[in-house]
Amino acid sequence: MFDISLPQDKKPLGGTFDVVIVGAGPAGLTAAIYCARARLSTVVLERNTAGGQMALTERIENYPGFPEAISGFDLTEKMKRQAGQFGADLREITTVAAMEPAGEGLWRVVTDEEELTAKAVILAPGVEARKLNIPGEAEFLGRGVSYCATCDGALYRGKQVAVIGGGDSAVEEGLFLTKFADAVYVIHRRDQLRANKVAQERAFANPKMHFIWDSQPRLILGEQKVEGVEYQNVKTHAIATLPVDGVFFYVGQVPNTDFLVNVVELDEWGYIKTDALLRTNQPGVFACGDARTTPIKQIAWAVGEGALAGIQVEKYIDMLEQPAAARAAQAEQEAAAAQAAAAAASSDGGAASTGASPAAASSTSSTERKLPE
Ligand code: NAP
Repeated sequence: MFDISLPQDKKPLGGTFDVVIVGAGPAGLTAAIYCARARLSTVVLERNTAGGQMALTERIENYPGFPEAISGFDLTEKMKRQAGQFGADLREITTVAAMEPAGEGLWRVVTDEEELTAKAVILAPGVEARKLNIPGEAEFLGRGVSYCATCDGALYRGKQVAVIGGGDSAVEEGLFLTKFADAVYVIHRRDQLRANKVAQERAFANPKMHFIWDSQPRLILGEQKVEGVEYQNVKTHAIATLPVDGVFFYVGQVPNTDFLVNVVELDEWGYIKTDALLRTNQPGVFACGDARTTPIKQIAWAVGEGALAGIQVEKYIDMLEQPAAARAAQAEQEAAAAQAAAAAASSDGGAASTGASPAAASSTSSTERKLPE
């Protein structure tokens, strides 16, 4: 199964840890708080700067404890500080290239700079913006095409922009863009938004927000930079051009799990499969956050999963230190707990009926799990 080949020039510089956490979004940072506070040696590897999609969100209104709302940047800083104060070692701009079993129950995690080993791994690599891959999208990236209103919105003061998509991100970030742009045109492929009702009400009440329904962008127009977008009505097939200075794409997300192919079990969309206790099909490897097969993508949910993953790792490492008989008994207990949790989830409608991900209900059977040798 493990057909990944680790780069030969990597040296085990990074050391051995109780737990390596891959990803420093809300799930990974919360897991880091729990692990570090449990006195586990904890390193967090993040390919960008911390925060993930949360850090790219201008205004967060539905995370408990912040009635006046908080920016994604500020919430990230608070979570980082909290993990750091318990001793978690956060390594940013560090990309995990591969991971594989290292024998004796350990995992080897290879980054672009070093190689680390750990007793347990928590996968929280998150998601990134989906590309539509229409002509001009890649060519004009940074010259009018953007996937981040928080990062680039201020460049469009007094200008006109298009937002592609009709979900929470498109509508909420579109509203944020009205702070700068004179007009924000939401181009959506249906005639109803997917976004939450509060955002919809605000968007429909905002005179700078305009909606182009039942339409799909076909190409981005321009010479040196974006000058417009050509779109087609999916019902009438009529083609039209909208002159804009910027196009912001918010057409959903894809999980950052390329490095996990043939390492842990993924669903057909590339999301990580786990059981109800967040265990993947590999012993010692747990997953949490948006890159997991989850029913919803919310910061509050990711934080909850990060807490559960952290606690599970603490128990797992405790178990490794117990004699074999006690480990087997604990594994039995956990399998029963996972089955009970899965049964409870399915009896109240379960993940499958609530979620954005069509694979939300699938899980990895806990009975397949093995203890490390
Ligand atoms: P999303 O909810 O998946 O919405 C994607 C939007 O893009 C949908 O309107 C979809 O249209 C459209 N779309 C998808 N593929 C397309 C294509 N090929 N061509 C044209 N349009 C396409 O993605 P998101 O808005 O990035 O949100 C991701 C997750 O984060 C969601 O679970 C969301 O609830 C969550 N989130 C929550 C908040 C919040 O709670 N305030 C804020 C941001 C994000 P259809 O509607 O026709 O499918």
